[in-house]
Amino acid sequence: MIDYSRARERMIAAHLSRRGITNPDVLEAMRSVRRETFVEPGYEEFAYEDTALSIGHGQTISQPYIVALMIERAEVRPGDIVLEIGTGSGYAAAVLSRIAGHVYTIERHAGLAGAAQRRFAEGGYDNIDVRIGDGSTGWPKAGPFDAILVAAGGPEVPHALKEQLDIGGHLVVPVGPRDEQRLMKITRVNATDFEEQDLGGVRFVPLVGEQGWSDDLAGSR
Ligand code: SAM
Repeated sequence: MIDYSRARERMIAAHLSRRGITNPDVLEAMRSVRRETFVEPGYEEFAYEDTALSIGHGQTISQPYIVALMIERAEVRPGDIVLEIGTGSGYAAAVLSRIAGHVYTIERHAGLAGAAQRRFAEGGYDNIDVRIGDGSTGWPKAGPFDAILVAAGGPEVPHALKEQLDIGGHLVVPVGPRDEQRLMKITRVNATDFEEQDLGGVRFVPLVGEQGWSDDLAGSR
C-alpha cells in the first residue's frame, strides 16, 4: 500500500495553511483522514491535489480547501451535532466526524450513500449516520444542529435547514445560479432572527430537491 502521508502534509501546508485555514481542530482532522480512500479506484495519486474529482453519478468529491473552509466557517467544535447535505464520497463527513460528536449526512444517490457507508465502516468512522433521500428538507428528528453544511448549491437558502439550526448554530450553504454561487454563512441569533454573511464565490453541483432545483439539468426550479 502506498503511503500518502507526505502528500497529505504537503496538501495541508500548501492548500490549507497557506490559504488561511488556521483552526487547529480543522487542520488536525484534515490530517487524520486518508482522502485517497474516498476517491474512485485509479485516482488515488490525485487525492492530495486541491481539486474536485469525479465520483460517478455526475457528482464530485469536493476540493480539500473548500471542505476545510466550510468546516472552519461553520465553527464546528468538539462534541457538536452536525448535519451535512450531500454525502458524496463521504470525505467531508469523515473529516467532520473527527471534530464533531456526531455527524448526520444525507445523499440522494443510493449508490453514493452505500459506497460512503462502506468507507465509514472500513475506516472506523462510527459516529456518522447516513440517510438516502432529499436533504434540502433536512433531518428534523436528529436536530437541532450546532452546524449544517450543504455541499450542493440551491437557488436560495433552504428554510427547513435554517429552522433546524440550534440557537447560535451556523449553516454554510452555496446559494445562487446553477453555474456559480455565493457561499453563505447563516447564524441563528435567536428563535426568529438570523445573521447572514457572504463568504465568497464558489462552484458546486446543484442541490436537487424540494428546497433546491427540480432536477440535475434544468435551469429553473
Ligand atoms: N461532501 C461530498 C464529499 O466530500 O465527497 C461532496 C458532495 S458533492 C459536491 C454534492 C453531493 O450532493 C452529490 O453527491 C449530490 O448527489 C448530493 N445532492 C444534491 N442534492 C441533494 C439533496 N437534495 N439531498 C441530498 N444530497 C444531494
